[in-house]
Amino acid sequence: MTITKAKVLIAGAGFSGATLARILAEAGFCCVVLDERRHSAGNCHTERDEATGIMVHRYGPHIFHTDDDRIWRFIRRFGEFMPYRHQVLTTAGGRVYSMPVNLLTINQFFGKAFTPEEAEAFVASRTLAIAEPETFEDQALSTIGPELYEAFFRDYTAKQWGRSPRELPASILKRLPVRFTYDNNYFRHSQQAMPRHGYTQVVENMLRHPGIEVRLGESYDAAAPHDGFAHVFYTGQIDRYFGYRLGRLSYRTLDFEEVRSRAVLQGTAVMNFGDLSVPWTRVTEFRYFAPWETPSGEGSISYREYVRECGPDDIPYYPVHLAKEQALLRDYVGLAEVQHGVTFLGRLGNYAYLDMDMAIARAMEVAERAIRSFRERVAMPVFVHRPQ
Ligand SMILES: Cc1cc2nc3c(=O)[nH]c(=O)nc-3n(C[C@H](O)[C@H](O)[C@H](O)COP(=O)(O)OP(=O)(O)OC[C@H]3O[C@@H](n4cnc5c(N)ncnc54)[C@H](O)[C@@H]3O)c2cc1C
Repeated sequence: MTITKAKVLIAGAGFSGATLARILAEAGFCCVVLDERRHSAGNCHTERDEATGIMVHRYGPHIFHTDDDRIWRFIRRFGEFMPYRHQVLTTAGGRVYSMPVNLLTINQFFGKAFTPEEAEAFVASRTLAIAEPETFEDQALSTIGPELYEAFFRDYTAKQWGRSPRELPASILKRLPVRFTYDNNYFRHSQQAMPRHGYTQVVENMLRHPGIEVRLGESYDAAAPHDGFAHVFYTGQIDRYFGYRLGRLSYRTLDFEEVRSRAVLQGTAVMNFGDLSVPWTRVTEFRYFAPWETPSGEGSISYREYVRECGPDDIPYYPVHLAKEQALLRDYVGLAEVQHGVTFLGRLGNYAYLDMDMAIARAMEVAERAIRSFRERVAMPVFVHRPQ
């Protein structure tokens, strides 16, 4: 079949599905994109709050950041991106500190005026000698010591993952989470930005192409026949594709509690809450994501974010990569690898946490592979990026 006649089905209209559809459509494919939600953009969906006119991120705060020029050029074809520099604060023990832990945090916390060198020597003097750290807690104690760990990592991590840091592997805390300068820039990528009119408009623009038909509010059912399509690209949950027949992969889900305030609530976009006595992990006040805007209405809108285990009817957010899940994932990958006519991608299809730029980069690679496969008449692989 030539590319110009190839009709493909793409399940999911998030960044993965939309990027794939756009590149394939520009190469001459006909793409039908299904999403069971009534909107596109997946978990990056944004919409303006009617009362305040503020752009709200319905599935949690999303900041675009990348070092990849190709992605940066690609995304700006579909919307205007405004410069935005993300910073995060945390409330712990009734005080507010700068995040990620940096020289200001250390000086605030210990009531000192250390230079970078003094701070590094001081933190090193607080660490515990643990020869081979096995758990998150061991790792933290051996790199930053008990005081900073207990204030900023222990309870926050327990809320985020629903498990004591003593049960989590050391590998989660890969890098030393401390900076010995006053750099509080949350992301270190060369490009950080917010779409002026929200992510949903960007994704809608991606999907606006004569070669793309979008069907919102329509689920993809792997068990139903899909005649007439040369290939299926699936960006939903891999375990769901197989009817959960081996069991469910674990995720953490989020609940958002909307808080409306007459005045501004916290004066910054994101405030973390480090203590277990506060049940939410963070609060996002959305007006601070658009410093260039004056809201059209009165008041401010914020979300308190609560993390918990994902049940069968909840939205899966963060994959849980512990030993049990890794084994189950391997089994699903085994099942998938004997399928024909389907390729899994995206954060759910690959059971991976992917930032937006990574999801876009991977979808581009899948699209390039598909174009080559159709041109050379060779089978498209089930995974271009094998889950691990
Ligand atoms: C709380 C949170 C905050 C984040 N913040 C950032 C950030 O600041 N910066 C950043 O770069 N990234 C961030 N991310 C990551 C970002 O959300 C992902 O990169 C992005 O959502 C990946 O897009 P996707 O298309 O792979 O998946 P999704 O956005 O999940 O889209 C998948 C789509 O497929 C649809 N679907 C699934 N199954 C079916 C089916 N069977 N039939 C029909 N439709 C189906 C779903 O409805 C969904 O719309 C964050 C993630 C989380 C959880």
